Amino acid sequence: MTDILTRPTQLCADLPLQVVPSASPVDAVRRSEILAEPGFGQHFTDHMLSITWTRGVGWHDALLGPFAPLQLHPSTAVLHYSQTIFEGLKAFNLDDGGLAVFRPDANAARFQRSAARLAMPGLPEDAFVAAVEALVSIDRAWVPSGGDRSLYLRPFMFATEAYLGVRPAHEYLCLFIASPSGAYFPQGVKPVTVWLSEDFVRAAPGGTGAAKTGGNYAASLLAQEQAAAQGCDQVVWLDAVERSAVEEMGGMNLFFVFKDGDKVEFATPELTGTLLAGITRESVITLAGEHGYGVSERRITVAEWRERAADGSLTEVFACGTAAVITPIGRARSNGGEFTMADGEPGPITTALREELLDIQHGTVDDRHGWIHRIG
Ligand SMILES: *Cc1c(COP(=O)(O)O)cnc(C)c1O
Repeated sequence: MTDILTRPTQLCADLPLQVVPSASPVDAVRRSEILAEPGFGQHFTDHMLSITWTRGVGWHDALLGPFAPLQLHPSTAVLHYSQTIFEGLKAFNLDDGGLAVFRPDANAARFQRSAARLAMPGLPEDAFVAAVEALVSIDRAWVPSGGDRSLYLRPFMFATEAYLGVRPAHEYLCLFIASPSGAYFPQGVKPVTVWLSEDFVRAAPGGTGAAKTGGNYAASLLAQEQAAAQGCDQVVWLDAVERSAVEEMGGMNLFFVFKDGDKVEFATPELTGTLLAGITRESVITLAGEHGYGVSERRITVAEWRERAADGSLTEVFACGTAAVITPIGRARSNGGEFTMADGEPGPITTALREELLDIQHGTVDDRHGWIHRIG
């Protein structure tokens, strides 16, 4: 910490970072209790990093300071028109004692794309990565070790201008907060049952489906409630126009393993503009290709899913994303009835890829793709 204080820090050119360490950090005993059973998104570290953007000025006032509530004017634009974006990425303790973040450059690039779709200013990618480094570094004691554990980082940006007119705001706040996390799904790697949503859609062509923005999640909650009422864990979204092509599951991308004799086809819905381009999705595509599976990004319909589950050529289905890594799907249910993936248990390819990804993230195996970003 003293190192951070004495070293002059810049988030990027023209953006100095002021550091004010918390005067009342959580005590070590309480912190280790939290790290022993972190849950997901319930506990937060001692610090947060904030940067302000003002029209005519640009990015300014970068501050790494104590974690604290915000005070907002009741007319703050985001509260009315939802001009907001977010990211999610993780920091891990490596097996060699080091500390690393998984692919922060990819999150930085996606944060810019989301900002552009929401008519918000883009945070320079080097500033995004430097902000992640600074927060993880000052709160490194909050990174839990082992298994499914990590420090989940949540960068987000929203319109702070106090104004009820409808137009892109003239002022934004970008915040980076961190939360120690365990398994995202409390049941661990048990296969989930999904509800195929035919009544509601998440994103339509030309909409905001490819941006990481809160509105997509607001639109999803009623369907998630419907899924729960049907005894399902998660919603699977279909395309808005025909309601036939599979898009994604909750906040995760989908993969289907088809077998045709000795040939394995590793299929995932193509990026049509209505689904989110997951960084885990891209990582899984890379790993699957290296294992010699034929990877295809294409249209996958509910009809194909149902038929090939029935004829046995669909052997595994899983969902993937930063928070839950890789989650097997055991059953799918819709108004038309239920069907099971093979024997309903996690498949061998799903399990192996999950292990491989976790091993790369924890530095147990060689990082041959340069996905591990070490924090000094
Ligand atoms: C974040 C997110 C994903 C997964 O993206 P990762 O980069 O793998 O975490 C998938 N779908 C939606 C809707 C998301 O918001």
